[in-house]
Amino acid sequence: MRIPFVVGNWKMNLDRQGCESLAKHIAVKLPQLQGVRAGVCPPFPYLMTVHAQIKNSPVVLGSQNVYCETKGAFTGEVSPAMALDCGCTWTLVGHSERRLVIGEDNKLINKKVKAALAAGLNVILCIGETLEQRQQNQTEKVVESQLVGSLEGITPDPEKLVLAYEPVWAIGTGVVATPDQAEEVHQFIRGWLTRQYSAAVAEKLCIQYGGSVNAGNAKQLISQPNVDGLLVGGASLKADEFVTIIIACQN
Ligand code: PEP
Repeated sequence: MRIPFVVGNWKMNLDRQGCESLAKHIAVKLPQLQGVRAGVCPPFPYLMTVHAQIKNSPVVLGSQNVYCETKGAFTGEVSPAMALDCGCTWTLVGHSERRLVIGEDNKLINKKVKAALAAGLNVILCIGETLEQRQQNQTEKVVESQLVGSLEGITPDPEKLVLAYEPVWAIGTGVVATPDQAEEVHQFIRGWLTRQYSAAVAEKLCIQYGGSVNAGNAKQLISQPNVDGLLVGGASLKADEFVTIIIACQN
């Protein structure tokens, strides 16, 4: 059985005090978790501040990105080992803002997934289509090409890799995918995993949905058979709402 996994992506929001206080509130409200897993991804400079607040709670720490090299002349980048050293056990890779704003392609994302896993950092790999691609009925084609490109040469270990289906048109827009829309793509992804790897991998691997999730829509989304978790942006910046979303996902 897949244990739901809810992760908050704080993006480039909050200052040190804001991160500390949010992390503290979440940790206090979630001294233990049953039937659900939870994590937060603060900005790089505040990883250790947040880690200090959540380290005795079941909430895990993730980075929002890592670089694909282990060390050296890569000004401004952060290696997987550095993220681990700050207390991370997870990292996001291939978030649509990295793909579309920063310009990361599947080739680089594939290198990042490999580097993170090789270092012992678990990965949440983000995929998803733009509005234009959906309107042109390209959703499955786009998602499949992102999966093929980002996972080239990797056999996913469901303990170490999570997929996050995040339609770009739903991220930060307030336009959430309907539970049916999310389920349809998640089902497609699970079918792809079965064909590409095995029924066992497909059965165990957690597929999160992300895009305008809030306390009001979380329950309906997680109730879909192939939605195994949620990646939450804006609503994860409010402790009460984020905790409500996590509790709504409890098995
Ligand atoms: C995200 O950034 O991954 C995200 C899903 O954002 P939001 O929940 O704000 O749409």
